[in-house]
Amino acid sequence: MEKAGICHVVMYPSPGRGHLMSLVELAQSLLRHHPSLSVTVLISSPPHLLPSITPYISSVSSATPSIAFRHLPSVSPPPSLSSAPTAFSDDPAMYFEYARLNNPNLYHDLSELLSDSQPSQKPKALVIDFFYSVAAEVAAALRLPTYYFLPAGANPLAAFLYLPTLHKLTTSSFKDLDGNVDIPGVPPIPAKHMPSRMLDRTSRIYGHFLETSTRLAESAGLISNTFEALEPRALKAISEGLCVPDGGTPPVFCIGPLVAADDHISKHECLIWLDSQPSQSVLFMSFGSMGVFSSKQLREIAHALEKSGVRFLWVVRYPPPHDEMWRNLAIKPEDDPGIDEILPSGFTERTKDRGLVLKSWAPQVAVLSHDSVGGFLSHCGWNSVMEAVFAGVPMIVWPLYAEQKLNRAYLAWDLKLVLAVAESEGGFVTTDELAERVSELMLSEKGREVRGRAAEMRNEARQALSEGGSSRVAMAKLVDSFKKGMM
Ligand code: UDP
Repeated sequence: MEKAGICHVVMYPSPGRGHLMSLVELAQSLLRHHPSLSVTVLISSPPHLLPSITPYISSVSSATPSIAFRHLPSVSPPPSLSSAPTAFSDDPAMYFEYARLNNPNLYHDLSELLSDSQPSQKPKALVIDFFYSVAAEVAAALRLPTYYFLPAGANPLAAFLYLPTLHKLTTSSFKDLDGNVDIPGVPPIPAKHMPSRMLDRTSRIYGHFLETSTRLAESAGLISNTFEALEPRALKAISEGLCVPDGGTPPVFCIGPLVAADDHISKHECLIWLDSQPSQSVLFMSFGSMGVFSSKQLREIAHALEKSGVRFLWVVRYPPPHDEMWRNLAIKPEDDPGIDEILPSGFTERTKDRGLVLKSWAPQVAVLSHDSVGGFLSHCGWNSVMEAVFAGVPMIVWPLYAEQKLNRAYLAWDLKLVLAVAESEGGFVTTDELAERVSELMLSEKGREVRGRAAEMRNEARQALSEGGSSRVAMAKLVDSFKKGMM
C-alpha cells in the first residue's frame, strides 16, 4: 500500500527530444503504479531546440496533469560552445558543459521549489540523466538526493562504474589497446569495442565520462531501463560492489522495459502495408535516431535483400556528407531527397511485391508489435533492444556507435539471444554476410531457435512488469527511497 501524501520529484533531462522523452516515459511509468507521486520536469533546452519539443510537452501536460514542466532561463553558451543548430547532436561533450552553465539557474529553481509553503510541494529527489551529471553538485548543496536515469542496460552500467578502476590500470586509450577488457559481470570484450566516446582518453568527452562514472557511484540510486532476468550477472556484480572496488555502490533500480506508448492517431502507411503481409514474414530494418550509412553500404544492403529474397520494411536515410560510414547527425525527413538514386538501379521495382523502403523514420514501437514482423535488423541501441524484447521480435544486430558493441557482446556472443553480423575493415558489411544472416534469422532452424528465445525473453519482460514482478517491485522500492527525502 502507498503511504499517504504526495511525493514530489524533480526530473532534469539534458537537451534534445530523446532525453526528455526517456525521463517523461520513466515518470509516466512510475505514476501509473504510484499515483501519490508528482513530477516536475525542468527544461533547459536552448531556444533552437524548443520547436522540436514544445508539441510533445503540450501533449504530455494535457494527458498527465501530475507531470508539470518548468523552463529554466536560457543561458548563453560561451564561444567555445558553438551555437550552431546541430552543435548538440554533433558533439555530446556539449551536453556536459551546457549542464555546468545551467547550474546557477538550476540552483535558483530548486531553491524556489524547496521553499514552497506546502510541504507536499517540496521536492524529495532530483532525477537527472547521464549527460547532466554535474547537476549533482547543485543537489548536494541543497541536500537533495540525486538519482541517475540511464537509458542503458546493466552491462554498460557495470562498465561505467568500473571506468575509474580501468583508468588507473593503464595509461593507454582503449582504442590503442589490443586484447580484451575485463569488467566484473560483463563478458570479456575487445578494448576497441568499449563505448565509442570512451575510446580516446585524451578527448574532452572521455574526461566527462570519467567524472560522471565517479558521480554515479556517489548517487542515491541508479535507475536502469532493464529487467533482472535479462542481465542477472552484471546486476549481481554491481550489487556485490565488484564494479566500484574502492567505494560504495548505490542501489540499482531495474524498472524496465520502458516502452513508449504508441500515440499515433492515424495509421502510418507502413502499418497498412504490413497488414497485407503474411504473419511473421517481414524483416524490419532500422538503425536508431542517428544511424546512417555510406552509399556503398546502402547498395550492399539492397543487394543482400535481393539475394536473401525475404520480405522487408527498411528505414533508409540519405548518406551523410562525404559518405562517412555513419555520423552522429540526426537528419530531418525533408533533407532526404533522392534515396532511389542511391539504391541499385531497379531495386524498388524488383522488390515492390515484398519490400517497402521508408525515408528517415518509422513508428518503430507500432511496427515491432505488428504480427507481420518476424525479425528486426537493428543497430543495437538500447531502446530498440528493449522494444524488440518487449514485442518478442528476434534480432540481428549491427552496432554502429555509443555502447552498442558492448550490448552486442552480451546479447549475441554471451546470451545468444540475438544474431550478429560480422563486419569487415571499417565496419563494412558485405552483401554475402548480410544475406546469410538475414536468411539465417528468417528462414533457418537456427533462426527458429532465436525466435524461441526471443519469445521466452518477452515472457520474462512481461512477468517483470506484472504485479509482484521484479520491475514493479523495483519501482515501489524507488518510490519509497524518494519518500525518505533529504540527505
Ligand atoms: N525510432 C523510431 N523510428 C525510427 C528510428 C528510431 O521510432 O525510424 C525510435 C525507436 O523506437 C527508439 C529510439 O528511436 O525508441 C531510438 O533509440 P535507441 O536507443 O534504439 O537508439 P539511439 O537513437 O539512441 O541510437
